[in-house]
Amino acid sequence: MTAASTAIVIGAGIAGPVAATALKQAGISATVYEAYPVASDGIGGDLALAANGMRALGIIGVDDAVRAIALPITGQIMSVNGRGLELPGLDGVEPMQMVGRGELQRVLHDRAVEAGVDFHYDKRLATVENTATGVAASFSDGTTATADVLLGADGVRSTVRTLIDPAAPGAGYTGLLGFQGSADLDLDLDPGVMTFAFGKRAYYLYWRTRDGRVTWGANLPSKQYLSTTDARKIAAADWLTTLRETYAGDTPGEELANLTTEDTLQVLGAIHIMPPIPYWHRDRMVLLGDAVHAPSNSTGQGASLAIESAIQLARCLRDLPDPGSAFAAYEDLRRERVEKITRRGARTNSAKTPGPVARRFMQTAMPLFFKLMNFEKTIGPEQRYAIDWDERVTVPPA
Ligand SMILES: Cc1cc2nc3c(=O)[nH]c(=O)nc-3n(C[C@H](O)[C@H](O)[C@H](O)COP(=O)(O)OP(=O)(O)OC[C@H]3O[C@@H](n4cnc5c(N)ncnc54)[C@H](O)[C@@H]3O)c2cc1C
Repeated sequence: MTAASTAIVIGAGIAGPVAATALKQAGISATVYEAYPVASDGIGGDLALAANGMRALGIIGVDDAVRAIALPITGQIMSVNGRGLELPGLDGVEPMQMVGRGELQRVLHDRAVEAGVDFHYDKRLATVENTATGVAASFSDGTTATADVLLGADGVRSTVRTLIDPAAPGAGYTGLLGFQGSADLDLDLDPGVMTFAFGKRAYYLYWRTRDGRVTWGANLPSKQYLSTTDARKIAAADWLTTLRETYAGDTPGEELANLTTEDTLQVLGAIHIMPPIPYWHRDRMVLLGDAVHAPSNSTGQGASLAIESAIQLARCLRDLPDPGSAFAAYEDLRRERVEKITRRGARTNSAKTPGPVARRFMQTAMPLFFKLMNFEKTIGPEQRYAIDWDERVTVPPA
């Protein structure tokens, strides 16, 4: 018998639809409630799914649909002061798949609907009450819903997190604001080769797309925290001025900023990183995805970890007799892995704004550093991680 028959899933980003589909596959009926009025809220930007995330998507049969909308990242270059060095890859591991966030959410939504999941939009979770047999969720429009368990896949500003523990720490701010732009620039670069560039004042990354344009992401250092909404209140023209000043003198950052226009600039706002969260679950509520483990964009793992957690949580609810033991087993399977990757993200974030001396050192030391660095040891366990869906979950040792 499963730990629950019905589940409310809060959030139709990435973790939510994957969890709902996996729950259906596990014999548990799931309904998704999303605060935004429509599917794919237009937050914009692209994200790269790592091999571990793609493998986990295969469990719910949506990996090929994602590959069909993706650009495989076939090469990676690290560049300091405009001088690049090719990064080694992992043997036999699928390349990262770059996808538009909106398109990814549409594909995940469509797969969930195909599996029998219902979606309700314009439903912002406000409170949750425990009932004798389950949970009752109330939404800000006054409506309610009941189920055996409630999954909080509601992102870095999670409401469910504070309902589980009012004292839970909030998402940390990396000190970086995210932007994405697109430029018509003739760079000698194959489509799918990604460059991670340390500019004079800020970090950025860029890659050529199939249409020949160059897409780039900027990580702008900013003492002021600006949510996506607040950052978007500032005119795109003003942000372009700031980005052009920031990347002036960088190759090709200066040209990328100069050639990006207001209509192709996407303002993404503060980039977050979650500190360790003491309580992942309480009673019949549990957290997954960025709500509990946002490792920051520097890891390239946020979405992939969210997908893995969604699948592992569904396995635990399928195999264990009650929500408490299922949630404990899920946390046991996930906590160490996600916190380790988050620590790597924090280290990378602090290296994104090196001073001039550190940059000169990086440029000289980089070839030796890469020669000595064991990519298989650092990145291998992240990307080779595989979930055996058919294996039965057992209660973790006390
Ligand atoms: C600039 C940037 C670049 C990134 N690049 C990468 C990358 O290359 N690779 C990678 O793997 N990850 C990347 N990430 C991280 C990745 O986007 C997240 O890890 C991923 O989106 C987490 O998915 P999620 O479903 O947990 O949360 P989200 O995608 O944030 O979804 C949460 C959903 O919950 C909804 N919601 C919130 N509150 C409520 C409520 N009260 N009631 C109902 N619904 C609610 C939200 O509207 C949203 O739809 C990047 C992030 C940023 C900011």
